[in-house]
Amino acid sequence: MAGWLAFTCCAGALILLFLPSLASEDRLVSGKPLYPGATVISDGGAFALGFFAPSNSTPAKLYLGIWYNDIPELTVVWVANRRNPSPTNTFSPPTLSLSNSSNLVLSDGGGRVIWTTDAVASTSSSSSPSMAVLENTGNLVVRSPNGSMLWQSFDHYTDTVLPGMKLRFKYGAQGGGQHLVSWKGPGDPSPGRFSYGADPATHLQIFVWDGDRPVVRSSPWTGYLVVSERQYQQDNNGAAVVVYMSVVDDGEEIYMTYTVAADAPRIRYVVTHSGEYQLRSWSNKSSVWLVLSRWPSQECKRYGYCGPYGYCDDLVRTCKCLHGFEPENTKEWDKGRFSAGCRRKDLLDCKDDGFLALPGMKSPDGFTRVGRDMSTSEECAAECRRNCSCVAYAYANLSSGRRSGGNVSRCLVWSADLVDTAKIGEGLDSDTLYLRLAGLNGEKPRGIVVMIVSPILGTGVVALCILLAWLKFKGKNRKWRKHKTFYEHGKGHPAHDHEFPFVRFEEIALATNNFSETCMIGQGGFGKVYKGMLGGQEVAVKRLSSDSQQGTKEFRNEVILIAKLQHRNLVRLLGCCGEGDEKLLIYEYLPNKSLDATLFDDSRRLLLDWTTRFNIIKGVARGLLYLHQDSRLTIIHRDLKAGNVLLDGEMKPKIADFGMARIFCDNQQNANTQRVVGTYGYMAPEYAMEGIFSTKSDVYSFGVLVLEVVTGIKRSSNSNIMGFPSLTVYSWNTWKEGKTEELVDSAIMNTHSLDEVFLCVHVALLCVQENPDDRPCISSVVFVLENGSSTLPTPNRPAYFTRQRIPMEQIIDDIQNSGNSFTLSEIHGR
Ligand code: ATP
Repeated sequence: MAGWLAFTCCAGALILLFLPSLASEDRLVSGKPLYPGATVISDGGAFALGFFAPSNSTPAKLYLGIWYNDIPELTVVWVANRRNPSPTNTFSPPTLSLSNSSNLVLSDGGGRVIWTTDAVASTSSSSSPSMAVLENTGNLVVRSPNGSMLWQSFDHYTDTVLPGMKLRFKYGAQGGGQHLVSWKGPGDPSPGRFSYGADPATHLQIFVWDGDRPVVRSSPWTGYLVVSERQYQQDNNGAAVVVYMSVVDDGEEIYMTYTVAADAPRIRYVVTHSGEYQLRSWSNKSSVWLVLSRWPSQECKRYGYCGPYGYCDDLVRTCKCLHGFEPENTKEWDKGRFSAGCRRKDLLDCKDDGFLALPGMKSPDGFTRVGRDMSTSEECAAECRRNCSCVAYAYANLSSGRRSGGNVSRCLVWSADLVDTAKIGEGLDSDTLYLRLAGLNGEKPRGIVVMIVSPILGTGVVALCILLAWLKFKGKNRKWRKHKTFYEHGKGHPAHDHEFPFVRFEEIALATNNFSETCMIGQGGFGKVYKGMLGGQEVAVKRLSSDSQQGTKEFRNEVILIAKLQHRNLVRLLGCCGEGDEKLLIYEYLPNKSLDATLFDDSRRLLLDWTTRFNIIKGVARGLLYLHQDSRLTIIHRDLKAGNVLLDGEMKPKIADFGMARIFCDNQQNANTQRVVGTYGYMAPEYAMEGIFSTKSDVYSFGVLVLEVVTGIKRSSNSNIMGFPSLTVYSWNTWKEGKTEELVDSAIMNTHSLDEVFLCVHVALLCVQENPDDRPCISSVVFVLENGSSTLPTPNRPAYFTRQRIPMEQIIDDIQNSGNSFTLSEIHGR
């Protein structure tokens, strides 16, 4: 078939082979083969079946695949001939046909069969009018004349799990289910290094492997089944979707599946070529795949990261030694290198040993499953007792998962080092791990103590393993939230309504070299900031000075607020500490510090070319949008400024410092305060003068910030900018005179796009208008910055002009000197 065209190159470096003249149907019937260029489109239009080629393969290799038909980025969800692509031959192309024996047969141009569904060869009559239908779920199904299913692509995993697909974990002799296997690279569908699936040896746990090497492992299955468990998944931008997860025992097999609402965005799980198992959703707004969750989700969770007898504490995301153990190499351990693990403080001597119960654990790897069923945990304990080399056991009642003929119980025993364990808090997938320790015989120091008596039994298999890994993803870890304690300042006990990681003071002191000067990276109005290593992760520790203005109230405010907020443009709070007079906040570390430190530094400002500045402006706007509208609360920052925008390693911005933020109720538009806090020059006039703040006062501060980023000029620090009383006035005046380009910082002269600069200045001037009602809301700002606009209104003169009879400085001085209740936490910029 001559003349088919290579067309449409999309992200992922794939080419669709497209011949516009061919009409598409949702099925393939015998005698009507599918050629490159034609597609089968599902009834409903969601998916397409056809040929595609990686764009970098020369000569082009052709694959038969299924992809989303209704999104612009070519995203292949299933590939038939991953190991055996067909060479391109324009005059003799490959074909996909439905044979008389109801098999799909993919042949190359020379007629050689390169892939077939031979599993159904004997089940259909020779005169079969069978058909292969591409369903709107993305499942390609071969049906016999009587409608029964002979073969389906959903049973043949590649790298993707679509809603409705079953991920099976089979029993006994049949062994484990198949594995998902990643692509080799972004444009290369051939099998890659990484795979995802049940452990073939035990069928009890899920792994991501890199070849034979485990990357991450779930807890061993504890026997639970769930039906349509609602899981809320959210990405860093606040985009969210609800996934209904089921773990099902249908009598023959146990499998996991999931669904989403009909109007939900496109969703898929995928094992990526870089070794992560991710949940992705398609954003129509930004035309990209958003990552809603990933596994492993943190370093500490990587397989064996904490070494033998070490465990990952979910609470603080760092490694610790199991009770009765200490770091094998303290120096390395303190530096965040945990792989050497821990050693026993007291050696076992069998006779005097006992078991310590550790609830809420992910059981370690390397267990042996005792073959026979047991009705109580004590029987499992006895198995371990019999063998002096047994170091731990864990028992679970599997009665909920019995239908498929599996065992009623699960007794795991360990005789080798305990590796890859974690403290995850009590929940569906956690075990109580009974750890054998010296000197516990007869004592009951903590938990349950059991005497050791005799040897263990051999292996048992059966059962399945379930997708704990999937359940791990949910809502940034349901259990993590559920079992964390939260420090409530001033009371010194866990609060019931907030949950948050609380880190011990001594751990932080250790991480910052006892708050040494060399670790200090900054100082703000409320105290010093130190760099440290916690759990192998770089962190910034803010140690609030005891005489700081940020007393109990601000501290609690900041902790509670930030703990709830997650967005890529907000600084993440990782933990906190409050012991005695000490109040500490632990943040993710951002290597490029605050925006003002670069923007107003002659030697560093060149690092900020226009593209970077524009991205910073847009990022801050998105962060503010999240605070104002997209998070569960309406949050007014009240102190947005260049010093409170931190830059990560790629100069991406993150808003910091929520100590002064205020939460608004749903319908609340503005509020009044007797205590004006913030930074002069960024403060909206109605806030500075009357104490009235709203989302629009943040919009004002954002406008000032944008003008600073464009001009490289610090806002009115000395009340005279190019002969004007403030940066806003100077900018408005220059804009009014049609000389906007004169505003641009000379450091970015050759890198800027005038259109974008004009847009930013125009938006900024709208934001700094005197009347809050005239200012745009931040969602409009984000929209305009991202999409442009040719119909923006003309900005009114900024506040300073109309109030010039009572200059702002005068008003502020008056407020301060009058002894009334208004206060300003900062008058001068740093
Ligand atoms: P103020 O408290 O008066 O508003 P500020 O916001 O600059 O001033 P801090 O938040 O205490 O004060 O920060 C002080 C400095 O410490 C910052 O300017 C920045 O250089 C550094 N810093 C703060 N947080 C981090 C972080 N997460 N990563 C890296 N550096 C940080």
